[in-house]
Amino acid sequence: MATKITNLTTEYLTNPIGIDITSPRFSWVLQTNRQGAKQTAYHILAASSPKLLKAGKADVWDSSKKDSDQSIQITYKGKKLSSRQRVYWKVIVWDEQGKTNESETAFFEIGLLKHSDWKAKWIAGSLSGGARHSVPVPFFRKPFKVSSQIASARLYITALGVYECSLNGETISDDVLNPGWTDYNKRVRYRVYDVATQLKKGDNVLGAILGDGWASGFVGLGNRQLYIDKPQLLAQLEITLKNGRKVTIISDQSWKHQHGPIIESDMFMGEAHDARLELKGWNTARYKDKNWLKVEAGQEVKAALVATNESTVKRIQEVKPISKPVNRSDFIWRKFVFDMGQNMVGWVRLKGSAPKGTSVVLRFSEVLNPDGSIYTTNLRNARATDVYTFKGEGVETWEPKFTFHGFRYVELMGYPGEATEDTITGIVLHSDMEQTGSFECSDPTINQLQSNILWGQKGNFLDVPTDCPQRDERLGWTGDIQVFVRTAAFNMNVAGFMTKWSQDVEDSQSDKGAVPAVVPGVIPDLKDGGPAWADAAVICPWTIYLCYGDTGILEKNYKSMTRFMDFLKAESPGLIRCAEDYKGWMGFGDWLSINADTPRDIIGTAFLAYDASLMAKIATILGKTNDAAKYQKLFEDTRFSFQKRFLKGSKAKMSKAAKRRLEVSQADNISRGNLEVVDYGPISSDVFNTDLFTPTQTAYTLALHFDLLPEDLRSKAAKELVADIKRRGMHLSTGFVGAPYLPHVLSNHGQVETAYALLHQKTWPSWLYSVTQGATTIWERWDGWTSERGFQSAEMNSFNHYAYGSIGSWLYQTVTGIEIDPTQPGYKHSVLRPQPHDSLQHASAKLKTSYGDLESSWKQSKSKFEWKVVVPANTSATVHLPVEGNVSLNGKKVEGTTHSLSAGEYQFVVK
Ligand code: BGC
Repeated sequence: MATKITNLTTEYLTNPIGIDITSPRFSWVLQTNRQGAKQTAYHILAASSPKLLKAGKADVWDSSKKDSDQSIQITYKGKKLSSRQRVYWKVIVWDEQGKTNESETAFFEIGLLKHSDWKAKWIAGSLSGGARHSVPVPFFRKPFKVSSQIASARLYITALGVYECSLNGETISDDVLNPGWTDYNKRVRYRVYDVATQLKKGDNVLGAILGDGWASGFVGLGNRQLYIDKPQLLAQLEITLKNGRKVTIISDQSWKHQHGPIIESDMFMGEAHDARLELKGWNTARYKDKNWLKVEAGQEVKAALVATNESTVKRIQEVKPISKPVNRSDFIWRKFVFDMGQNMVGWVRLKGSAPKGTSVVLRFSEVLNPDGSIYTTNLRNARATDVYTFKGEGVETWEPKFTFHGFRYVELMGYPGEATEDTITGIVLHSDMEQTGSFECSDPTINQLQSNILWGQKGNFLDVPTDCPQRDERLGWTGDIQVFVRTAAFNMNVAGFMTKWSQDVEDSQSDKGAVPAVVPGVIPDLKDGGPAWADAAVICPWTIYLCYGDTGILEKNYKSMTRFMDFLKAESPGLIRCAEDYKGWMGFGDWLSINADTPRDIIGTAFLAYDASLMAKIATILGKTNDAAKYQKLFEDTRFSFQKRFLKGSKAKMSKAAKRRLEVSQADNISRGNLEVVDYGPISSDVFNTDLFTPTQTAYTLALHFDLLPEDLRSKAAKELVADIKRRGMHLSTGFVGAPYLPHVLSNHGQVETAYALLHQKTWPSWLYSVTQGATTIWERWDGWTSERGFQSAEMNSFNHYAYGSIGSWLYQTVTGIEIDPTQPGYKHSVLRPQPHDSLQHASAKLKTSYGDLESSWKQSKSKFEWKVVVPANTSATVHLPVEGNVSLNGKKVEGTTHSLSAGEYQFVVK
């Protein structure tokens, strides 16, 4: 089969317009299922026009023929690129048979690189709200004339706040909630749009609507106006006419603004739209804007204006209610409750008709009360309420613009007509990332778990990786993404998304190098996120490197990572992090663990060692040999300190202060309702120093997973871990910190049986408990709702928190056995080693890697194990058959259980 060169990307994007990376990286895919397909050489040609490129005249960059199998992340090394420059490129690839294959043409375009490229001025409306209240949303308009035919046009635009922009009455893109969230004190992202086709010779109008967004609406656990009092806009429209003249329209004091139908809008509180106040035709040339108001000059913005080098938030899919709405009218209100069948994030489109002036109220909830009414207590201060007032002109359709909710149920109040399934449609919003992974097996409850994990990711990857999407929080908790990132990178292509967030991490770092608990860093008291939270600064870039072969993210963040390591070292005397007498933040511990308090110094020291070990690898990859040796030594020294203090034989005893702290922490846990006081009797250990602490599953897990134990204690530790799981009736006790690694530790240490027992466990705490309760996303707590106690404390009880979804990576990595070779990351060389179990008859994972489709699908019966493996072109794999017997490969008898495979499709059968 011939090879096709497809999926040309620049910085993970297809034909991006307006990036500001001046040495962008190119990738492509060799599309073929020919066995052994491989690239042996490539030649990249880049030109300033498609015509030149077609003629083979690479006036921008000619890489020359390179004998190399590298087909991803090839750095542009051509002429220096300047603002607005568009580059067309293609690649010629030589395959293993010496045949050449030429790609189609791709392009990328540079945005505005210099501050002086910006002529536009920040403008704002006249009203500003207060710390707890908002004002109507301003509409901005700028009429202008274009004297002759248009050759090309670009709109460079951003806001502090969130905007929707239109030209001549039509919105300019399907992006929503732009420009997303960064630390606006440091960085504001602009977008670039090709708007040539929307412009016309003659009269034109540029329009923009500005919501409060993250910049001046409610954010996190605080008030409004965190960054700025009211939203402001920056827009620059650059038009090139066919006659060669250039015209630039900028935001400035010549614009006008008015308040229209959006009475209030806030991401937490919801949006209110009075259709009677609509400004019909406001963004078209015919409109008379006599009574419109002058705009105000916006505040000076000192932050860097940077391009959006990653995908943006869009409407990704629509969800219809799964049944007829339930009429729950009472003597005051007409009420209907809709079930979307899925806990989702976004908003709803309302379609209906009612007399002019009729207001309907939409409220949102993830779950129902036992009586069928919506349960909103866990939303805390997020009002999450939309209001629509009808204009009374037949069937009206409405969607909000600048809010979002996390919900499965929608209550419609005050609608006079008969509500049907057609009355509302759920609109799912998230950052536009390609779904790359799927996992499926013979157990429907596990398939539902996988679906819940995926939906948790959809709901919480809305420009920033957040803890939850519904209550008044929605923050980039570093610990949560640290535990989930590996799973996330299976399900979707998160490389660009995480690269952007790594920049946010750096932006939020303190002078001393501390990394906060939330990023963007909006909680001043949490400058150091503490163990397992702050460590995201190292773990996340490392994971992206592994999964996408992206050394760029390591290079880019190296300085920030070393600053973080310096902070850790300085704060960890004797290389014990969060030692008993530590004056700084001790961290969140093993957050939401169940009756198992892992001391903070164990978690802290274990993560310090782990970070050091990763830094040693990172430094090696970047060719920094001295640093590599330094970090390797730091790892070994920290491991030594860990062993000296926490392992059996150490004389350390629990101090009075530590005892006291444990009591306080337990009391706190109990009051939060996440710790049951169960006495499992005295626990002895051949591994840990039980005078210092009671060993927990998380302590064993971290010690094993981070390689902190001497050889002779490893299997003992694994056995003691299993004993603790058995003591708890085959239940885990881990919180956010231990849960992601626990199953890996079990399956990597000969305890796969126990790992599967935990996977299949249906009583809480377990991954499947929430599934048995009808969950469609991952719950924040193991016991978010139980039949004995009902809802957990509403103070903290989200039903859409991805952290415990970290089990997803174990499904891919162990059940179907898809592993990365860290020396050839990004699945250049895969290691496939499934660990099946009798409880499953089949399991299958498919993964769209940077090289193409990878698959591991097995099925088994008493007499036969069949395994289909697909290795993408230009990669190889080492496969380990999990069973012994008579082995055949593609119908031919082969010996042994380990095989090296080149690209292609393979079928193993073991009898
Ligand atoms: C968040 C968590 C977060 C935690 C810190 C909570 O409010 O929802 O997911 O990691 O605080 O412990």
